[in-house]
Amino acid sequence: MRALYFDGRSLSLVKDYQLKPCDETVVRVSLAGICGTDLEILKGYAGFRGVLGHEFVGVVEESKNPELVGKRVVGEINVGCGTCSFCRKELQRHCPYRTVLGIKERDGAFAEYLTLPEKNLHTVPENVSDTAAVFTEPLAAAYEILEQSHIDPSWRAAVVGDGRLGNLVAQVLSTVVHEVHVYGRHKRKMDILRDLGLKCFHVDESFEPHGYDLVVEASGKTTGLATAANLVKPRGLLVLKTTVADAVSLNLSPLVVNEVNLLGSRCGPFQPALQALSKKLVKVQQLVDAVYSLEEYSTAFKHASSAGTLKILIRP
Ligand SMILES: [Zn+2]
Ligand SMILES: [Zn+2]
Repeated sequence: MRALYFDGRSLSLVKDYQLKPCDETVVRVSLAGICGTDLEILKGYAGFRGVLGHEFVGVVEESKNPELVGKRVVGEINVGCGTCSFCRKELQRHCPYRTVLGIKERDGAFAEYLTLPEKNLHTVPENVSDTAAVFTEPLAAAYEILEQSHIDPSWRAAVVGDGRLGNLVAQVLSTVVHEVHVYGRHKRKMDILRDLGLKCFHVDESFEPHGYDLVVEASGKTTGLATAANLVKPRGLLVLKTTVADAVSLNLSPLVVNEVNLLGSRCGPFQPALQALSKKLVKVQQLVDAVYSLEEYSTAFKHASSAGTLKILIRP
């Protein structure tokens, strides 16, 4: 099969890549999304070697469960060892021995086929298109915030970052709290958020220091954390969503003095994300900038890493 392989230095299209033999479910990938994490991996984040890509929707080609064959699915990306204390509590995503689709010791979705254990797969409701379903994984990451903390509807919330993840987080938060402000830098991205009914501010022009009970840092930039730390109220909740390859240097004293609650947040639950897409609580179509073939990967990644871009999809 054709697959986009990262050897630690560069990406290349391999024409005769072999799926690793295993007893997992085989999925034919219909559509896959390029995510900020993929761009960070290309810069050295996570030290990954293999087929890149972890956001996908596809059709089950082969499975030990005959009922699954032919079903349209999305898949949770973490595969635990199954026996450690985290796995026993269904926390595979924190298993120290886990593999992660297209991120850690497991080939990913920028290929014609991928494999995952059956229990990682979720069937996609019929009224959710492939273009929407491919957002399930990043949307689940946004829902993780609601899973991790009780959010009071009266809170004022801010999201730092107007990109792919910031947009999804803002939409998810606005289903819970009345006031969500997004701090961004890109006119086009902020216009898209405004069309969704969200209030946006340019981070250099309008700023409400220490005005928010909840601040989510989803900028994908090392500078976003300092911005977020300036927005959060004393005793407020600061959720960190950005994973970057670079180390961050930050004066932590204001966080200590203001007794800010810091919460790291990563992958999340797929079911609420699929439900939200099915009920159109979250809109994702406007985030897609372009769809490329695997052969066009070089253009696709260039497009994905340019400043104004939201989401680039790859159709294998
Ligand atoms: Zn991702
Ligand atoms: Zn485990």
